[in-house]
Amino acid sequence: MKVLVLGAGVVGTAAAYYLAKDGHEVTVIERHEAAARGTSQSNAGLVSPGDATAWASPSALKTFLRGLWNHELGIKVRPSLDPYFYAWSLRFLRECTVARMRANTQVKLRLALYSRDCINALSETTGIHYDERKRGILYFFRTQKSLDTGTDNYRYLGEHGLPIEIVGRDRLVELEPGLAGVKEKIAGGVYSPIDQTGDSKQLADKLAAHAAEKLGVKFLFGTTVQGLDIEGDRVRAVMTSAGPVTTDAVVISMGPESGLLGRRYGIDLPVYPVKGYTVTVPLEDESKGPTMGGADEDRLIGYSRLGNRLRMSSTAEFTGFDRSFKPRDFNSILNTGKDLFPGAFDEKKALFWAGLRPMMPNSVPVFGQAKYRNLYLDTGHGHLGWTMACGSGKFLSDLVAGRKPEIDPQGLLYGAAP
Ligand SMILES: Cc1cc2nc3c(=O)[nH]c(=O)nc-3n(C[C@H](O)[C@H](O)[C@H](O)COP(=O)(O)OP(=O)(O)OC[C@H]3O[C@@H](n4cnc5c(N)ncnc54)[C@H](O)[C@@H]3O)c2cc1C
Repeated sequence: MKVLVLGAGVVGTAAAYYLAKDGHEVTVIERHEAAARGTSQSNAGLVSPGDATAWASPSALKTFLRGLWNHELGIKVRPSLDPYFYAWSLRFLRECTVARMRANTQVKLRLALYSRDCINALSETTGIHYDERKRGILYFFRTQKSLDTGTDNYRYLGEHGLPIEIVGRDRLVELEPGLAGVKEKIAGGVYSPIDQTGDSKQLADKLAAHAAEKLGVKFLFGTTVQGLDIEGDRVRAVMTSAGPVTTDAVVISMGPESGLLGRRYGIDLPVYPVKGYTVTVPLEDESKGPTMGGADEDRLIGYSRLGNRLRMSSTAEFTGFDRSFKPRDFNSILNTGKDLFPGAFDEKKALFWAGLRPMMPNSVPVFGQAKYRNLYLDTGHGHLGWTMACGSGKFLSDLVAGRKPEIDPQGLLYGAAP
């Protein structure tokens, strides 16, 4: 069957790979000149089932409301005239109960764990490497109070299948010698040994090349999706800047733009952009940098070691589709980086980037057939799309093939929220 995948982020590229492995004739339409030049370009690099806790929670509700007027917080909310922002916010607020948070978290954890197996298998089968590190991730807290409250979410993940170790500061530094210099500033943390890190742009680039060369996937780069040509209960063609492309099936994987396209065709797809920032800097002295991924939970900074580079990330900002940034947007990331790893890097060599997380109100991505018989979704991966991309692609390919998925689909299908 002819399948069009819309969007060559890490999610669309992974979907194209698995669909092509099933024997479909796959074409990917991407407005940029290469894969992973949108949100997947420069994320924090964490492949982290340990980060599966849904964003919408009772504490997020308070932070979200405080973020309306206090723009120094990790969450910044800039009210806009966009009615869609208010509709999304209401749905987000409805997800902020303990019960909803737990239901959403369980579904995300299931997909994230599955996806970790999928990316490892994919790397093994294809021989693709992506500056990956498989040493776990440390989530740490600076005060006893934040440690006591913060570990609750991790214990919940632990009860639902994530191996975790709660660690004091001595054990923490034993695991991560790179944090020895700040040992006294850290109360303790959680070690998730099966978490990993890696560069999603590298994976997507190499996977696109592999899929094109070995599986015949066609990438129409530099081509913008303009709309869908609907005929009765199916999509007949996708309208693009290069003309219409006819198809048997379509997969929407357009990251933050997915909701814009869906809405035009009456598909309830509340994907909203949530901006974040990253800094990538070469390690001048590798012995002073981290040996595994980590997250400073009090400062809301995540980081990973990608080869000899350090990638650091922060902030959730509601500011529509604005991808612009100024040097001062990176101050808190750089200051925390210098605090954690003094002497490890030269900030003058830092590369700055901002991207938009394709966020669903409940933080759970959405899959499967939507409204039209041959239209599928694989989108809305929010803050965890790098972690969930490969499992998502495999799951999607099972749905398109009409096969029983390897993963329990409960809570993941369009129209059946957890
Ligand atoms: C600061 C930050 C840090 C993050 N850190 C992590 C992390 O550590 N771990 C993790 O798991 N996740 C992380 N994420 C989230 C993760 O990066 C995203 O969930 C993931 O990249 C989404 O992938 P995607 O393929 O859905 O979207 P994208 O990568 O945005 O891909 C969508 C593609 O669709 C294309 N497109 C859109 N509209 C059109 C159109 N009209 N025509 C043609 N093409 C179109 C875009 O150009 C783009 O290439 C982070 C995100 C941010 C912003």
